[in-house]
Amino acid sequence: MWHRLSHHCPLCGALLVRAHVEGRDRARCSSCTFVLFENPASAAAGVVIDERRRVLLVRRAIEPFRGSWALPAGYQEIDEDPRATVVREIREESGIEVEVGELFDLLFVLAEARKPANLAVYLCRPRGGILKPGHDALEAAWFDLTRLPEDLGFDNGPRILHRLRERGG
Ligand SMILES: [Zn+2]
Repeated sequence: MWHRLSHHCPLCGALLVRAHVEGRDRARCSSCTFVLFENPASAAAGVVIDERRRVLLVRRAIEPFRGSWALPAGYQEIDEDPRATVVREIREESGIEVEVGELFDLLFVLAEARKPANLAVYLCRPRGGILKPGHDALEAAWFDLTRLPEDLGFDNGPRILHRLRERGG
């Protein structure tokens, strides 16, 4: 399970201690009144579908799911709209430029050794760029929705791509 890295109060620098605050165990400053309310991280993924009903996937170069195919996705920067996260992550991981469409799903992702995250999944259309894997991808490729790779990371297969295929893209 993910563990918080900060052990000191961001306001006064004193040690944080566990205390029962507003209904659950939380980290509270041992000196001032600061309470650390921990929240899930925010991440966004793009389902890029081209005019031939193929989906853009990247083969992950990093853990978790190293070597598996997944939708391009990543964490949202603090000042970034999730749609901008999607555009940036797809560009970084695959070289493809996209136009972001409707919100397809919002997944709560619990993964070992990572902070839990809300993952916003957007449908996208390619608008240009040249297919080329980024530094955290081994490969980037287009797959027919009816011929997806077996090795799909995260909940990408059952939760997103199979459902998308069933609804007809
Ligand atoms: Zn403090």
